[in-house]
Amino acid sequence: MSIDPGTNHVASMPTSRQARTGFEHIDILWISEGMSCDGDTVSVTAASQPPIEDVVLGLVPGLPTVNLHNKVLSPTLGGEQFLAPFRAAARGELEPFILVIEGSIPNQNIIEGDGYWTSFGNDLETGEPLTLNWWIDQLAPKAWAVVAVGTCAAYGGIHAMAGNPTGCMGLADYLGWDFKSAGALPIVNIPGCPVMPDNFMETLTWVLYHAAGAAPPPPLDSLLRPQWLFGKTVHEGCDRAAYYEQADFARDYNSPKCQVKVGCWGPVVNCNVPKRGWMGGIGGCPNVGGICIGCTMPGFPDKFMPFMDAPPGGSLSSMLNKPYGAFIRRMRTITNIALNKEPKWHHNGRELTSGYDPRWRP
Ligand code: SF4
Ligand code: SF4
Ligand code: SF4
Repeated sequence: MSIDPGTNHVASMPTSRQARTGFEHIDILWISEGMSCDGDTVSVTAASQPPIEDVVLGLVPGLPTVNLHNKVLSPTLGGEQFLAPFRAAARGELEPFILVIEGSIPNQNIIEGDGYWTSFGNDLETGEPLTLNWWIDQLAPKAWAVVAVGTCAAYGGIHAMAGNPTGCMGLADYLGWDFKSAGALPIVNIPGCPVMPDNFMETLTWVLYHAAGAAPPPPLDSLLRPQWLFGKTVHEGCDRAAYYEQADFARDYNSPKCQVKVGCWGPVVNCNVPKRGWMGGIGGCPNVGGICIGCTMPGFPDKFMPFMDAPPGGSLSSMLNKPYGAFIRRMRTITNIALNKEPKWHHNGRELTSGYDPRWRP
């Protein structure tokens, strides 16, 4: 492996590796030392499909046993005890392992060795901080699978917005979009700010079943997202979509109506959160009053700002929808009033007025 000094990317990455599966045990090395807020780690603790503790405790049938190394969830005392498996993996003495990266990756080249943006432990010989970039360069080529959790790790996210000084980026921009892990898998991006807990655990579980040799690789789209999770828009799963269809728009955030005029980008954002709910099937931004700000998207946040302003396309489509919506709402109101009355033949009289014609009548 070599580092291209011009791009800060790992160069000459093998692209035709043979998949190895059938593992009975696997380690998960999770690094959140990038430009990260640890929000994805915290979010994943809310998963229920399956819960992360079930995976760690070996309660999900058919999965390899798993050792999870995550600094927030670690039972170790921290320090060198926590770092030990990471150091072993960097030396090539721990395999197989899945590398999970949380947070965006800063560009060390732009400060030309003059300090570091972010680090994870120290070099044992020199005492110098080991940068996140050093760890990724060491671990990614050896990892059986590489997973980017959250939008920062997938596409750069909040920390990579215009004007940031770090030049940070998503993992695929750092390693190259054609990167293949030792298990012959592309990077698996699971975006979201933070990641939706069950989206992460469901995808990780699929990867683990693949590691066990019990499932094919997870299908990913061209942005390396799980296809089955990011193939539909927020709007297509939103509880408020009927209001949009009837051109019934909220003017403030206290309304149960469609929020497109108060800043919702749902019609053009790939995310399943309104459909799935956030925790245990409950919640999901627009369903519970939060506008969609596109936090799963590669263009987030710059292309969605200023937040809470009506999206330009939303203004146009809602304007075009208005005459149809007003007409259809009126028609539905009339029909709804009619349907809220019992049929006229429901009465306690001697005469049968339902139109039924009994055969026994002469
Ligand atoms: Fe934090 Fe969001 Fe970035 Fe995750 S994607 S590290 S939650 S800012
Ligand atoms: Fe679509 Fe947003 Fe309106 Fe829901 S609130 S129907 S996602 S525009
Ligand atoms: Fe992010 Fe929008 Fe999905 Fe909410 S609905 S998680 S804001 S992309």
